[in-house]
Amino acid sequence: MPCDYKTYPLNWFSEIRKAAIARANNACQDCGTENYSLRYLQGTQFCTNDSFKQAQHRRYESGISDVLTIVVLTVVHLDSFPMNNAPENLRVLCLRCANRRDAKRRAKIRKTKRLDALEAIAPSLPLVTSIITKL
Ligand SMILES: [Zn+2]
Repeated sequence: MPCDYKTYPLNWFSEIRKAAIARANNACQDCGTENYSLRYLQGTQFCTNDSFKQAQHRRYESGISDVLTIVVLTVVHLDSFPMNNAPENLRVLCLRCANRRDAKRRAKIRKTKRLDALEAIAPSLPLVTSIITKL
């Protein structure tokens, strides 16, 4: 989900984010992948230590395409409040791990938006809404 940096403190990039990444030793706190490292992304997994030739060979053998990607670390707020920058509330993650952690919350938001849209279209159908909520 895109960040609205207007809700972040002014020293977010210059101090808070940098300090969090330094505390995490410049690596994802979930999978250990280093910031700005090159990785092949195979499916949802990073394949580390592969040369370009190895990745090409694996692609040929498996038929699964690898995507060469640059890992960029992000700093997430565990409680989702950008003004709570206590070190224990910040976690440094690669985008793959951040997306994995955030998937449940995003699914919940999508479901809420669908229900809101349904209620706007058919406010007199609470039964339908309750059935969908249970799905
Ligand atoms: Zn990671």
